[in-house]
Amino acid sequence: MSGYTYETATRDFDPVFGIEVHVELNTNTKMFCGCANEFGGEPNTQVCPVCLGLPGAMPVPNQKAVESAIRLGLSLGCSIRESSRFARKNYFYPDLAKDYQISQYDEPTCYEGELEVVLDDGTAVMIGIERAHIEEDAGKNTHKGGGGGIQGADYSLVDYNRGGVPLVEIVTHPIEGMGDRTAEVARAYVATIRDIVKALGISDGRMEQGSVRADVNLSLRAKVADGQDQSAVPLGKRSETKNVNSLRAIENAIHHEAGRQADLLSAGKPVVQETRHWHEDTKSTTPGRSKEEAEDYRYFPEPDMLPVQPSREWVEELRGTITEHPAKMRKRLQADWGFADMEMRDAINADALDLIAATVAAGAKPQAARKWWMGELARVANEREVPVASLPVTPADIAELQGLVDAGTLNDKLARQALEGVLAGEGSPTAVVASRGLAVVSDDSALEAAVDEALAAQPEVLAKIQDGKIQAAGAIVGAVMKATRGQADAGRVREIILQRAGVEG
Ligand SMILES: [Zn+2]
Repeated sequence: MSGYTYETATRDFDPVFGIEVHVELNTNTKMFCGCANEFGGEPNTQVCPVCLGLPGAMPVPNQKAVESAIRLGLSLGCSIRESSRFARKNYFYPDLAKDYQISQYDEPTCYEGELEVVLDDGTAVMIGIERAHIEEDAGKNTHKGGGGGIQGADYSLVDYNRGGVPLVEIVTHPIEGMGDRTAEVARAYVATIRDIVKALGISDGRMEQGSVRADVNLSLRAKVADGQDQSAVPLGKRSETKNVNSLRAIENAIHHEAGRQADLLSAGKPVVQETRHWHEDTKSTTPGRSKEEAEDYRYFPEPDMLPVQPSREWVEELRGTITEHPAKMRKRLQADWGFADMEMRDAINADALDLIAATVAAGAKPQAARKWWMGELARVANEREVPVASLPVTPADIAELQGLVDAGTLNDKLARQALEGVLAGEGSPTAVVASRGLAVVSDDSALEAAVDEALAAQPEVLAKIQDGKIQAAGAIVGAVMKATRGQADAGRVREIILQRAGVEG
């Protein structure tokens, strides 16, 4: 029955998707207790009666986590609720010591926002955010034997270190009308969230460690003829692919699910509403549990905690700490700097954007700053096999170096030598120029003497120049540059040669 690809599925059907992104906050301690919030500790060493849910333990909300959640919500354009009760979401699973998860249900702290996502070709898409609520993470199950899955395992181990780590879950409204760009939009959305949480400093954003992970919902519905109202067609049954942990996997999971659902629908079979597991090796999904409805969780208000009630003053104070969205910042910088798309992309990929920005802030022209970081310094970094940011040179050094070039003290060649000195730890560019004696010779009497000497050595070239073949002056410029070990001001040398030959430049 197979046959549909992502391309044909999104041509013949109308895809609708939604994403739940879980962001692990980088607070020092867990959401409701004082246990360390650290990745990679020995199993079950970061636990206490509260996060293990022992009888009588009393949870207390982590103020720093609430602050991070509010800042994230504000970044997503959300409204901030004045009072949010926590709720108990009841279900049994071995990684959940309490048999319920403390979450926010009908009163999420952040609700109704909007996020602009920019695709690779510059197309901007607005994604509606339904809510961003605070909750705690569960522990981690490890299945031993039988290929790592729970099926066929000999036994399973549970590590509760992650149990109780603060999470913010961001839920989108259904996203419609993206057609064959659905997967690209989904990927760009998660990348944007990851960039924002990193820029806010509230999470390390490391998808490979699970700090940012996504559940991807997808459904297909019949496509209406052109000119008809697509949104009038009810949504199809959706699948929810859980814990997709890389940007590429998000795209691939949507590709796979679109093809799989189109095959079912075109064969007249139903799509089952269920959670599915993503398999990186086969680039496919397999069924998990059939999707519970909210009532299956028997949510009820958490009786052991007061509601979160951020004051308006505090929220406004936090609003002042919100950084510009990384994508928007990049757009603004590109416009300010007049970089071509390719120049901008290369700088981003080389992680050189901050360095260029700091160099510009220190007084260099943007293109000059870019050329240093993406040229000579990228070459040196590559040679040393280190990131360009870890080279022993600061943006202020580069701005100073470029200043010496702009002032005519250094030509390009001398500037590279000065940079070599800076990288060798000989001090600032000015100090290196002084200690290595690198400054361009622009003292006319010294240059005139060197020109006279070169002309005397090559009288045939002088004759040519006087004959009107001005380009022959290049040979004399070269001789003078050689004689001065590259330290002559080449433009000035040429002027003197033409003066001496008695011709106009
Ligand atoms: Zn604890």
